[in-house]
Formats: sequence, C-alpha cells, structure tokens
Amino acid sequence: MNRIQTIAGLRENPDVDVLVIGGGINGISVFRELALQGVDVLLAEKGDYCSGASAALSRMVHGGLRYLENGEFKLVRESLLERDRLLKNAPHYVAPLPTTVPIFDLFSGMANGAFRFLGLSRRPGRRGALIIKTGLAMYDFFTPARRIVPTHKFRSRAETLKVWPAINPAIRNSATYYDAWVSHPERLGTEMLRDTMKEKPSARALNYARVSLGDAGLVLNDGLSGETVAVKPRLVVNATGGWIDLTNSEIGAVAPKLMGGTKGSHLIVDNRELHDALDGHMIYYENEDGRICILFPYLGNVLVGSTDIRVDDPDQARCVDDERQYILQSLSFVFPGIEITDADIVFQFTGVRPLPISQD
Ligand SMILES: Cc1cc2nc3c(=O)[nH]c(=O)nc-3n(C[C@H](O)[C@H](O)[C@H](O)COP(=O)(O)OP(=O)(O)OC[C@H]3O[C@@H](n4cnc5c(N)ncnc54)[C@H](O)[C@@H]3O)c2cc1C
Repeated sequence: MNRIQTIAGLRENPDVDVLVIGGGINGISVFRELALQGVDVLLAEKGDYCSGASAALSRMVHGGLRYLENGEFKLVRESLLERDRLLKNAPHYVAPLPTTVPIFDLFSGMANGAFRFLGLSRRPGRRGALIIKTGLAMYDFFTPARRIVPTHKFRSRAETLKVWPAINPAIRNSATYYDAWVSHPERLGTEMLRDTMKEKPSARALNYARVSLGDAGLVLNDGLSGETVAVKPRLVVNATGGWIDLTNSEIGAVAPKLMGGTKGSHLIVDNRELHDALDGHMIYYENEDGRICILFPYLGNVLVGSTDIRVDDPDQARCVDDERQYILQSLSFVFPGIEITDADIVFQFTGVRPLPISQD
C-alpha cells in the first residue's frame, strides 16, 4: 500500500491491531514478523527508515565475543547462528571479516575477566594472551557445527610484524578470528521492509510519521504534508531504541525510565597508507584506556571508531571534536608510524546505542 492510500485509509478507519513505533532494524523486524503472520500492523517512523542507530553501527555482524566474559553463552551461541544466517541470506551486504586482535602481554585481564564473569565488575581492562586464547577457543566451540568461517589463529610477535609491519611494535602476539561485516546496514533494513510489502501488500508502513499524543488519542504527524492523522491501535510496540523513554512520555505511556543510551561516533578516513597497512583485516584493539576500538577497510577508505558517551536525547547526538581527537589518538596508539590528521577525515557519523539503564 502506498503512502497516499495508507493515510487515506487511516482517515476512513483509524483502527489498527498493532502500531509499531520506530522504523529501525528492530521495528522493521517486528513489523515483518507480524505482517507475515497476517496481523493488521502499521509501522510508523519519524524520519527515514533506519536513520537512527541502525545506520550508525560499527558494521560488525558478530557473535558477541565480548559476551563470553559475562558468561552469556546462550547469547553467544544464538548470535553466532544469526551471523551465519546473515552470511548465507544476505551475501550482497554481509561478508566474512578476518579480525585481528593485537596482544600486548600474557596474563592481563585474568582477574578482571573472572570478576566480569561473576558479574562483579563491568570495568574495561587490558586482556592478555591467555584470556584471549581462552575466549577464542570458546568462540570456535560455540560456532555452529557446519562452520562457514575458519577457526582462530595465533601469531607470534615476529609473524605479526611480518603481516602488519606498521602495527605498534610493543605487541607480544596477535590473534585472528573470523566474524562478518555489513556494508550497508540501512539498506538491509529497507530491503526487509520492501520484501514484507511485496509479500503482504496489505501491510502498512509510513516514514516521516512521528507518533505523539493528540487531544483525542494517538496521532501520526505527517512530516511531508504537516497534517495529523488519528490512529487507534489495540496494541503499541515502542521500538524506538535510544528514544524509548522520550517516546513513552510523548505518547502518554506510564513507564519507568528504561534507557541509558550512549552515543558512539565513527570516522571514515581516506588514507592509503593506513588502508594498506590493515592487509584486509579488521583490527580489534584495546585503546590505552582499555576501551575496545575497531578499524577496518571500508569501501576503499578506513572506518574507525568508536566513542561511548552517555546521552539522553538521541536527536541532540553529534560527533564533536573531542571524539574526533580521541579516535585519532587511538589510531596513533595502534599504528604509531602512520600520521592521520583531521584532513584525512572524509565522513563522520554518530548513533545512540539503545542500552538499558544501569547504575555503573
Ligand atoms: C556506535 C554504535 C555502534 C554499534 N555497533 C554495532 C555493531 O557493530 N554490530 C551490531 O550488531 N550492532 C551495533 N550497534 C547496535 C545497533 O546499531 C542497535 O542495536 C540497533 O541498530 C538498534 O536498532 P533499533 O531499531 O532498536 O533502534 P534505531 O535504529 O535507533 O531505531 C529507532 C527509530 O525510532 C524512530 N523514532 C523515535 N521516536 C519516534 C516517534 N515518536 N515516532 C516514530 N518514530 C520514532 C527513530 O527515528 C529511529 O529511526 C551499534 C550501535 C551504535 C550506536
């Protein structure tokens, strides 16, 4: 159903079984599942589809290596299964990604890892060769039996420097494992939406349709015409990610504060020396402050990130100069001999991780 038909239909009859608010990857997935099961569902997105966090990710399709430290084995197994499904179902966007971890010592992280495993700490900290080797062996173990990516490989310092001569010479070892990356996450989302509409032409979705509370109930604010349209759902799914609390208050839902979102910024860097130094790998490294950062070749340039800063309103999130300097500093830690300046930055983007509120 097209936009004009959808709006005209709602003016005639505002009743709908389920209203899904938020057209990011989660809202689109809920919409798709319900529509394919024949449920009368309407999706409303206030901007472009997949214009929030779903366009601003690090582009990793991962099995959640880091969740192992928290003992979330079921989640890792499920994520690895989903990663492999995406590799099979969406090879035009999702491809294997060799991921290399530079390692600077042997024993670091054992105590902190144990504390994290026991849920006693969420503090980031350095991880040494032993804990990384253990983690990767477990990651291989949890990978589905008919694996479609190779198992991990450990390298000595000399072997590492042979492949990546520009990497920080203080390294002791490196480990390479395989995950996947998605080139255009927003297109993956819109493709799922288009597929759904093709399969179920009666399904209704509107972008530029912000949901709020009007005088007589919920309304869609049509961002193109400036008009409002009433909508009377039996059930509302709030899939607005980092906006969940703001949406709850905007639609008059009484709910406790749920979100503790953090903004994360990435830079796209146009620097041939850095691009070639990666040898086609993602480098997944701990910055000097213990935070995980990533960089990998991205469509001819290099994608590098990210930051992690608590924010309440995703609409106000921007990549600011402090973040650019943090990311450039992290690059100078991992590839100290390659000079990257502001002039090499050709693009930047920011999104808000929809994280649950925490006391940490
Ligand atoms: C920096 C960063 C790096 C990340 N890296 C990865 C990664 O490498 N791999 C990975 O798997 N995940 C990653 N993530 C997480 C992933 O991006 C998110 O989990 C996912 O995109 C969340 O999708 P969502 O649909 O819940 O939220 P969003 O994509 O944010 O969608 C919410 C939508 O709700 C809309 N909305 C808000 N209010 C209203 C309203 N009143 N009416 C209508 N619409 C409204 C917004 O416009 C928005 O489009 C990363 C996230 C960030 C921020």
